[in-house]
Amino acid sequence: MFGTTSSDIGMDLGTCNTIICVRNKGIVLNEPSVVAVELGTKRVIAVGADAKRMLSKTPGHIRTIRPLRDGVIADLESTEKMIRYFISRVIPRYRFVKPRMVIGIPSSITEVERRAVEESALRAGAREVVVIEESFAAAIGADIPIEEPAGHMVCDIGGGTTEISVLSLSGMVVTNAIRVGGDEFDAAIVKYVRNVHNLIIGQPMAEYLKIEIGNAVPDESLREVEVKGTNAANGLPQRFKIGSDQIREALRDTVNQIVENVKTTLGQTPPELAADIVERGIVMTGGGSLLRGLDRLMAAETGVPVFIAENPMDCVALGAGKYLDFIRGVDSSKTAYDSLNR
Ligand code: ADP
Ligand code: MG
Repeated sequence: MFGTTSSDIGMDLGTCNTIICVRNKGIVLNEPSVVAVELGTKRVIAVGADAKRMLSKTPGHIRTIRPLRDGVIADLESTEKMIRYFISRVIPRYRFVKPRMVIGIPSSITEVERRAVEESALRAGAREVVVIEESFAAAIGADIPIEEPAGHMVCDIGGGTTEISVLSLSGMVVTNAIRVGGDEFDAAIVKYVRNVHNLIIGQPMAEYLKIEIGNAVPDESLREVEVKGTNAANGLPQRFKIGSDQIREALRDTVNQIVENVKTTLGQTPPELAADIVERGIVMTGGGSLLRGLDRLMAAETGVPVFIAENPMDCVALGAGKYLDFIRGVDSSKTAYDSLNR
């Protein structure tokens, strides 16, 4: 009766993006984790991409929020509404058999918040909900054989958080989460441009520079772009040129925090498992892992090979979607020895 049905759903409730994957169908939804709310009435005006389009362009009575921004739920009510809206988009109301859901969330969220996420999903029409740590989901989604009796490390760099975990025998051995990720990269670029060029740019421009010309180590092609900012002294718009070297300089401290945390996590790993990781390498997932050269820098700093997962931004959703099958596999391997324990 409780076998997996084709409608099992995996959800990555990320600080930047929410991604939903349906078993046998793949990814069916990928939207920014953003909600636009009317002040006072708290009525939700828009969710996802529609809400993001309003970001920083809203009239006074509308506020756009990223409810999970720093890996903790800043606003429970709008988070619930966002979850319910996204689920309603993928589960038709008339469905007779309700789906089971696995939701990947930042490990930094509290027990109370975790329960709220669970309840929102149940109210949105899930039959059963399992909430798991996103780095665990990321490891399954990246096809890391975590059921083996060997150490594996995954480093998931999202928007608001970075999670570094060591897994073995389908369990988490060590996990560290820091509130540093792609958002901090953007903020560091805004600060750098302000300090060095005396110009003000917004987060979207900073993100554009990071993705287009940013890197963590010098690479072959030195890129430079011309963009617009606002002169901090006279408030007038001004064009300026900025290159990869400057973006790398701006990002250096933030990048180092992530690298340092990977080193710390390696230090906390039991030696046998650490030896496995040295051999197998670290797998990076999440949008932040796409920063050019971050894999090379990480490898050089830690002395461990580093790989970026295929489709790094989809790993958590894919892993959440596969989780129920994965658990069943683990259970059946255990039952092979059950008779010995009776
Ligand atoms: P979350 O899981 O927290 O929602 P994601 O894994 O979706 O986060 O990653 C979002 C972050 O990845 C954003 O900060 C975004 O700017 C960053 N990002 C996306 N693509 C790139 C890229 N090519 N280079 C650097 N950063 C990127
Ligand atoms: Mg994520």
